[in-house]
Amino acid sequence: MKMLELWNKGREMRALRALDAATALLTVGTGAAGKAVLQRLLVVVFECGAGGSNIAIELERAGEALAGLPADSPQPEPAARAWLAEAHRQRAVDRALAEEADPQQAVEVLLPHRAWSLHQLDPLARRIRLVHTATGRTAADVCRAAHLEGHLLARWGNGRGSPDAKQRRALARALGLAAGWLGVQHDPVPDSGLYVAEGQCPCGAGARRFAAGSLDGRQVPGAWASLGLWCTGCGQPYVADPDGRLYPVPVITGGGVLEFGAVADGVRPDGACGPELSRPWPHAHWYSPAGLQRRGALQIPPLYRSAPSRPPN
Ligand SMILES: [Zn+2]
Repeated sequence: MKMLELWNKGREMRALRALDAATALLTVGTGAAGKAVLQRLLVVVFECGAGGSNIAIELERAGEALAGLPADSPQPEPAARAWLAEAHRQRAVDRALAEEADPQQAVEVLLPHRAWSLHQLDPLARRIRLVHTATGRTAADVCRAAHLEGHLLARWGNGRGSPDAKQRRALARALGLAAGWLGVQHDPVPDSGLYVAEGQCPCGAGARRFAAGSLDGRQVPGAWASLGLWCTGCGQPYVADPDGRLYPVPVITGGGVLEFGAVADGVRPDGACGPELSRPWPHAHWYSPAGLQRRGALQIPPLYRSAPSRPPN
């Protein structure tokens, strides 16, 4: 399959982030606006070996997959993850059956692919991997700072084993996270605070200041969500629920043809074009007034520098 042959680190990161965001939304339970965001995230997941190159079709398939989900009904994290894996598998198999010369062979090639192992990663592994990547530091550098053996970071980020209490504290310090984020009670809890904002943009620069505008010309279900809200501070686009919950939304670029990266993070394309989902997202958390193109490591967002809210029992 063509999409699998194109697999690389950036694509893996984008898929991981889409899964992370989608899992988080499924665990908090979303209304129509959140579902509109989920649909776009699911397209990014489908890109991993499963989807075709026509974005309208992939959006339609994602919409169909989501149609069976009850709205506003939070799911436990393992159930959310299993649902995403199954939706992905279903799309891959459907496409292989419809389009490949030898569907049986296509499925055999597809299902052992690395893309599928991403579905196995729990929130701790995803958090370690996404935060570490965002810092731009090497694994060796982080491990040295935390007095850990050099291979451990990759191990944990791939979901093989988990740190003990002392290693957790050291790693949190080395990564610049408040210790609670790597506390064992937080392991199964997705970082939904990254993917849902309450009333104001986390960038701080444009708090409570939004401009309404078309997202990308593609239909967004839900009357109130047909327009995007753009933060005038950092450029992050959102769709909003009637009760004021804001969901950072990936904007679709690249016309009608879907290539990897067609769903970008959607910073308004007026010269301040931001990173794609392969880079830290949502942009609002990682935004710096010093500029997106600033060299060097990104600063860990305030969300991660203060203690996480208590996980549900
Ligand atoms: Zn902002």
